[in-house]
Amino acid sequence: MKALSDSTCEDMLNDSGDRAELNRDLMRFLWRNPMRLFSLSRRLQESCCGREVTYVINRNINFTNICVGRCRFCAFRKSDGYILTHEEIVQRAKEAEQLGATEICLQGGLAPGLTVEDYCEILEVLKSNFPRMHLHAYSPMEVMHMSRCSGVDVHEALRSLRDSGLDSMPGTAAELLVDSVRKVICPEKLSTSEWSFIIKAAHAMGIPTTSTMLYGHIESFEDRLSHLEVIRSIQLETGGFTEFVLLPFVPGNTELGRISSPPDILENLKMHALARVALHPYITNIQASWVKLGREVAGAAIEWGANDLGGTLMEENISRCAGSKEGQYMSPDEFQDLIKKHGRVPTQRDTLYRRILR
Ligand code: SF4
Repeated sequence: MKALSDSTCEDMLNDSGDRAELNRDLMRFLWRNPMRLFSLSRRLQESCCGREVTYVINRNINFTNICVGRCRFCAFRKSDGYILTHEEIVQRAKEAEQLGATEICLQGGLAPGLTVEDYCEILEVLKSNFPRMHLHAYSPMEVMHMSRCSGVDVHEALRSLRDSGLDSMPGTAAELLVDSVRKVICPEKLSTSEWSFIIKAAHAMGIPTTSTMLYGHIESFEDRLSHLEVIRSIQLETGGFTEFVLLPFVPGNTELGRISSPPDILENLKMHALARVALHPYITNIQASWVKLGREVAGAAIEWGANDLGGTLMEENISRCAGSKEGQYMSPDEFQDLIKKHGRVPTQRDTLYRRILR
């Protein structure tokens, strides 16, 4: 494709209209021409989000690291791991509430025999103690796992979770939504169509979810475009995604780390910018993960397409096990300082992107 001006790129993007398919020629051109890509992603970011960059005060609770899975990118699973008691979970939520958290994010390994009832009990105990706390819990893989353990279909599992207080779900376990890649990196995990099925079922029941992408391992650029097309097409159908979170692969202590070379800073920044362009205008919240990227690179990403920095977390085990150097907690003041340093306006939000006045 010949060189294209900024306005031609924008016109081509607008011509993609309401199709799930991306204009792959345009995406390839932008990838090879980072100045065009950054210029377009920045314009789109500013047209959707102005100068605002958001964050949420939340706490991650990884309630177990025991898992029957064998994902090759995972350093979190342990065969002799822990399962938190209800009391321990409530104590952690209490500490989070005292620090102003509006969200508890619950995710764990696939511990053998964990039923729908077990997962619902955690939600119920939290909702009864913290009725105003938003419960953002359980990936599509966990929904499938609990459904299998209980011998019920995923609709029934989702209904029970919703009735027990589930407010929204993380769109994790997506990893890279191309089955040939999944066969290598997470062969036992649910397939692309199973992930999409559970996400659409949740959206149809009024349970919003995030969407995510684990990149920078063995996938090709075209695989990344295929992943973005799956996300774009679900959003066109349901409108149930609140955001898109980019998760660069952290290779330490993982089997996959031995055969892959993780993305460098420029590639990470380009990927955030490309996601902004590829998902425009259907998903307008593009999140840069400070835990995966590090604060400095996440700060740069908000200048070139990302408009959200995720949560305070207070407890982060999954990336840390894989060698992330970031701490477990980033305070609201640190978010404010980082965002201001990059010339943007810091804004606290809730899980559903409603603004919270400090
Ligand atoms: S990524 Fe999740 S499902 Fe896969 S092995 Fe790790 S804990 Fe288990």
